Amino acid sequence: DGYRLKQKQDLLLFVKNRGSFAALFDEKTWPQTLGTLKFTRVLPKPLPPQFSIVLRNVPINTEDLLRDIQVDYLDVVNAFRIINKEKQPTTLVRLDISNPTAMNDLLRNKFINVNNVCYSLMEYVSPVKVLLCSKCFEIGYFRSSCTHELDVCKTCGEEVADIKQHLLQCNKRQNCVRCKGDHESNDVRCPIIKSYRSALTKSLLTTITTTSNNNNDQNKQGYFQVTESEFPLLVHRRSNYFNDRLSTLENRMKQLDDNLNRIIDMNERFEKVLNKQKQLMEIQQIDVTFQQEFVSEFITPVCQLVLEIVPSLIEQNMVKDSSILAPSLTAYCDKL
Ligand SMILES: [Zn+2]
Ligand SMILES: [Zn+2]
Ligand SMILES: [Zn+2]
Repeated sequence: DGYRLKQKQDLLLFVKNRGSFAALFDEKTWPQTLGTLKFTRVLPKPLPPQFSIVLRNVPINTEDLLRDIQVDYLDVVNAFRIINKEKQPTTLVRLDISNPTAMNDLLRNKFINVNNVCYSLMEYVSPVKVLLCSKCFEIGYFRSSCTHELDVCKTCGEEVADIKQHLLQCNKRQNCVRCKGDHESNDVRCPIIKSYRSALTKSLLTTITTTSNNNNDQNKQGYFQVTESEFPLLVHRRSNYFNDRLSTLENRMKQLDDNLNRIIDMNERFEKVLNKQKQLMEIQQIDVTFQQEFVSEFITPVCQLVLEIVPSLIEQNMVKDSSILAPSLTAYCDKL
């Protein structure tokens, strides 16, 4: 593992791989002091791109997102919205994950569930930085691994024994040590650096697309399969408020249902009573009809006969005109 002492008292640590970075990132692996010296750790923020993944289509703000993610994923330490070339926020969010295992698991799943929302994720590909040796300005290694014996002047490109001495008498004519162009040797606009960077980026992107193509092929081979990791059961968390409201609603619906059943019951009983009443009415109607018929068919003819007979009986003196019922039966019959 490389290291470099900067001016002041800072110790800058370089690591060989993600594993050693993760170990050094973890506060628990550090002692209280180094030798007898107290120290403070300054962690890189954001983490190196090798510790990042990108979530697609994130509508909520990154603070809320990070808080929700950390409920299940304690290793996720940062969340940044990715800004595009026009300095506008995109729908992509970069997550920093301090644990390589957790990160690999997520990349394998290709999805992350945050508060019941499923976000698709992908590897984070950073803009490639080209490493330049600060001694000879060649590409691809640190000064500590440099095999050149002499320092190179970044302006005129000459190899010199004493760089400090040279800087005082340098002709200041820009001559790149790699391409001999008229720019300083550490200028990132150097065509050799540019082509090196684009080749590097291209090779990184090819690796990533090949990996994702393989995944697609796997999906095409079989039918669509629902895996539990991609579609987990909805977890209830934090929204006790809604839970309470739902159960209240459920109770009220039940009450409503009970009331409705009672009303239906009552209606049925009422219908029965009504039917009985109807039958009774029909019987009474028959009674009335019978009585009417009895009166018209029997009583009325008898009465008429009596009315006809009584006067003639009185004329023949068989019945007295005057009786207890009426003072004069003839007059009574006439009246009827
Ligand atoms: Zn060098
Ligand atoms: Zn020079
Ligand atoms: Zn150049």
